[in-house]
Amino acid sequence: MISLAEARRHVVTRCSPRVPVPVALVDALGCVVAGAVLAPEAVPPFANSAMDGYAVRAADVSTAAPAAPVALEVVATLAAGAEATTAVGAGQAIRIMTGAPVPSGADAVVMVESTRGGPDATTVEILEAVALGRHVRAAASDIAPGQEVIAAGTLLGPAHLGVLASVGVRRPVVVPRPRLGVLSTGDELVDDDRPLRPGQIRESNRPTLVGLARSFGVDAVDLGTVPDDRDAIAEALTAAASSCDAVATSGGVSMGDFDLVKVVLAELADMAWMQVAIRPAKPFAFGVLDAIPVFGLPGNPVSSMVSLALLGVPGLRRLAGRADLDLPRIAAVAGPGLTRRPDGRTAYLRVACTWDRGRVRADPVAAQGSHHLAAAAGANGLAELPDGPGVEAGGEVTVVLLAPPS
Ligand code: AMP
Ligand code: MG
Repeated sequence: MISLAEARRHVVTRCSPRVPVPVALVDALGCVVAGAVLAPEAVPPFANSAMDGYAVRAADVSTAAPAAPVALEVVATLAAGAEATTAVGAGQAIRIMTGAPVPSGADAVVMVESTRGGPDATTVEILEAVALGRHVRAAASDIAPGQEVIAAGTLLGPAHLGVLASVGVRRPVVVPRPRLGVLSTGDELVDDDRPLRPGQIRESNRPTLVGLARSFGVDAVDLGTVPDDRDAIAEALTAAASSCDAVATSGGVSMGDFDLVKVVLAELADMAWMQVAIRPAKPFAFGVLDAIPVFGLPGNPVSSMVSLALLGVPGLRRLAGRADLDLPRIAAVAGPGLTRRPDGRTAYLRVACTWDRGRVRADPVAAQGSHHLAAAAGANGLAELPDGPGVEAGGEVTVVLLAPPS
């Protein structure tokens, strides 16, 4: 057996970031920016009002108070989107809306709540003195032209997309999301609604793995089921490698007579077959076929999930150009004891993580067998238990998060 760290290293060193391409802004969410983005434009592009009110000269209203209003002549109205063509002279004001350009001559905005007048009035009474520059958003006060707005390697979140839009970058150059083809293998698998014949079961790994991969930001596609037949597996793998950036198979990498994925991968793809010192998901095969990484995940439903989370994700994140290769690991409090048998492996118990008085609490789901998919569906984390007896109730445990705690 080899350690998880060693297996992971094997995968990561054989996956490299995809070539960056320009993509439409909304499609760049969750992608890594290839190079630093410098702002071609200032934000805001001009000084504008932060309030609905009146653009004034602060000196004109320095004595204004509710008991001693200062009356100003209203010489224009400025809406957002309008061009400021009239200047504010001494004793004058311009009625101004949020986002409208501050006209020349004005150096502050009095909010409408501190005035008396009306939309059509030719004079306005200012009830409050205002500091120079008040409620004026200076040009370039958010972003100066030439400023680095996004650092190279940034994982784009929603506001980053907005920042790029705000400076007019419509198609940022990012590492595209990897497309992962998901195949399952097994003569026993039925993936339509036919009644099951003796020995058959329903295929369940593809929807699970496609869903899990998508939840991790990977563009996963369902490539169907292949029988336990060398030629069929070779053909399906080759086709998958020609249409995807990575391939994940499930089944056929164990010690059985018909575990042919590892046989075919060995022939086609410079495969490494590993016995990883983890439970579940001990068998794992990894090969590179026509420069495309192939993750040979074990067939047991829970094992395939664990294998994708611990060994698939680092490889897929590397393809996506990310520096943070692993799913987040947090320190949680064991609800009941998390017990396990010493067996030379690290155990990954499926746990439900919830917030409990400011900490995350981990409770094991009811059944921990590698075929107990129904129970595993209630888990959002994998409690990482080093070889040994486990963790007592209330003890600290590391949890790999598959989804945020609830
Ligand atoms: P294998 O790794 O191919 O030996 O499969 C291990 C176990 O997982 C067997 O009981 C299989 O029937 C089961 N299994 C394999 N692939 C799937 C699948 N796609 N959906 C449901 N069960 C599966
Ligand atoms: Mg099989």
